[in-house]
Amino acid sequence: MTHLGRREALRLVIAPLALGALGAFRERPRPAAPLRVLVVGGHPDDPESGCGGTIARYVDAGHAVVVLYLTRGEAGIEGRTHDEAARIRTAEAERACTLLGASPRFAGQVDGDTRVDAAAYAAVRALFDDVRPDVVLTQWPVDTHRDHRAASLLAYDAWLRTGRRAALGYYEVLTGDQTQLFRPTDYVDITSVAPRKRDAVFAHASQRPAEWYPAHERMARFRGMEHQCELAEAFARHDGGPALPLPA
Ligand SMILES: [Zn+2]
Repeated sequence: MTHLGRREALRLVIAPLALGALGAFRERPRPAAPLRVLVVGGHPDDPESGCGGTIARYVDAGHAVVVLYLTRGEAGIEGRTHDEAARIRTAEAERACTLLGASPRFAGQVDGDTRVDAAAYAAVRALFDDVRPDVVLTQWPVDTHRDHRAASLLAYDAWLRTGRRAALGYYEVLTGDQTQLFRPTDYVDITSVAPRKRDAVFAHASQRPAEWYPAHERMARFRGMEHQCELAEAFARHDGGPALPLPA
């Protein structure tokens, strides 16, 4: 039987414990000042396809992410009533958020019939007051889809009305087809979390993501070229608030 010296015993016992602790730290660190990140989108699948990688990276760094869907995608499944589609797409959004580690919220508007009026401004403002975000990521306002424009304008207004306390950035979706005139100022390397982003997007099975996700993958590759990495998501920073603290 071998008698272990004190140093050897320490190496065998303490080192694995330390490594285990390091592993836990790597899984979900606890930043000194965790951020509250609010991601706003018109429909279930917009936040995931536009910045799902960045959401995953925020969560992995120990920050809290709330995803606010303006609608439940009521008009988004052919042959289904609004109620049926909303039920299916709400479940898909919840599953996508679980995969990313985010919390879903719904603003109560209806897909294809979104409103930008006093009541809508007040409703989104109330959600901002409740979440009290440090960072807001919303859709770029010049977009071929009305609901995307509505989501962007409502979030922008709430940002203004809450005194520009949060950092504000815009994300893109299907640039060229939907997002127009987008010029990025900031990038997030999503190479390490790309499979998780893909899974979150594919949680929206009713939207047949296999037909359009390849375009998002091409976008991520192109943004990666601009950012000198393999895959990236791009953002347009809104000046006038705090600096945009994106995952490094
Ligand atoms: Zn959409």
